[in-house]
Amino acid sequence: MEKIKMTTPLVEMDGDEMTRILWKLIKDELLSPYIELNTEYYDLGLEYRNETNDQVTIDSAEAAKRYGVAVKCATITPNAARMTEYNLKEMYKSPNGTIRAMLDGTVFRAPIIVKGIEPYVKNWTKPITIARHAYGDVYKASEMKVSAPGKAELVFTDENGKETRELIHNFKGAGVLQGMHNLECSIESFAKSCFNFALETRQDLWFATKDTISKKYDHTFKDIFQEIFDNEYKEKFADAGIKYFYTLIDDAVARVMRSEGGYIWACKNYDGDVMSDMVATAFGSLSMMTSVLVSPDGCYEFEAAHGTVQRHYYKHLKGEETSTNPIATIYAWTGALRKRGELDNIPELAGFADLLERACIKTIEDGKMTKDLALITSIENPVTLNTQDFIKAVRETLEGLM
Ligand code: NAP
Ligand code: MG
Repeated sequence: MEKIKMTTPLVEMDGDEMTRILWKLIKDELLSPYIELNTEYYDLGLEYRNETNDQVTIDSAEAAKRYGVAVKCATITPNAARMTEYNLKEMYKSPNGTIRAMLDGTVFRAPIIVKGIEPYVKNWTKPITIARHAYGDVYKASEMKVSAPGKAELVFTDENGKETRELIHNFKGAGVLQGMHNLECSIESFAKSCFNFALETRQDLWFATKDTISKKYDHTFKDIFQEIFDNEYKEKFADAGIKYFYTLIDDAVARVMRSEGGYIWACKNYDGDVMSDMVATAFGSLSMMTSVLVSPDGCYEFEAAHGTVQRHYYKHLKGEETSTNPIATIYAWTGALRKRGELDNIPELAGFADLLERACIKTIEDGKMTKDLALITSIENPVTLNTQDFIKAVRETLEGLM
């Protein structure tokens, strides 16, 4: 078979630890034999980030903006322990945070559904994709404890020194206070990323806030979404046969639990933080969760939702066998290759991505899986494979499907 050719480079962001090992295995076993991979490679492994004072992360994000599609391996976010372990010059910021800020993007997380790994919520037969607004609110708040009676106010001072005040509370005794904000431009970017991604994946979009209680703050989110929808997306949604649906957050939670899935749930920052862990856990496994960063102007960065699987890496370094699940990392590649195929009009590339995903699912449904899934599957007598053998098994299934 002739290898599939690519016309535009895919931005490849390599990473750390066990996922870096998976990265190479996936390329060698599942991609390079079938595709003439055309990537612009950036090494976001912590050593090279340190060597370049993190410039490589910035360069990779610039490249993602230039070419429109990137695939990223999980990376270490440095903490005190990593400072010593890697002898770092500085405690660099999370690469994901840096890239997200540069692309002004929203992260969409969706579970990969296979028979035999049953969601805890039995009616969830289709994936629920969570989109979390990643700016502001309680994550950029100022807080205060007060210990005596007194008056608390919100004060806004404009550039001319004019003050606007709003009473928060007349304290009769001790208490706590919080001031938070958000930006219209950030909410707009969030809304556009969500509408675009809904069109892209042909799924309904749900959004919820507490606008009945928060009549200015949350209501602004509701209004911005509605305005952008009415002005820019209403017809496109109708043409695509999908809906935009707004409701109150408590009503949304009730509906989500009763639903069969198959939609995108846009969440404010805190709601997204909480709900994404709930939805991910209920679908079964972090190792089966995909993640894509979408910018409002249509750049895509695909990755796995999990980290670098450090514990497995240390076993690997000691020469011990590992059984690390590569599915989410494979899906990062298939997501990126499919997108590249669509943008460059290379149907074989998008077709290959579909086929490789089918091979992943079929391998698991045939009873061959990594340990994390073997522990929770409802399939009887699953065969637990190590990291390398599982990837080989996917390759065999893929060859069978070709
Ligand atoms: P993690 O890498 O997600 O792993 C936590 C645990 O979840 C693992 O020890 C493993 O459990 C299980 N697990 C996760 N992915 C798995 C897979 N593919 N196959 C099998 N089991 C899997 O989180 P972490 O250990 O807390 O973080 C490690 C590093 O990742 C940190 O340095 C952190 O900064 C980084 N991180 C990066 C990203 C990113 O780049 N997107 C995201 C999160 C964390 P068992 O050990 O019980 O088998
Ligand atoms: Mg969280």
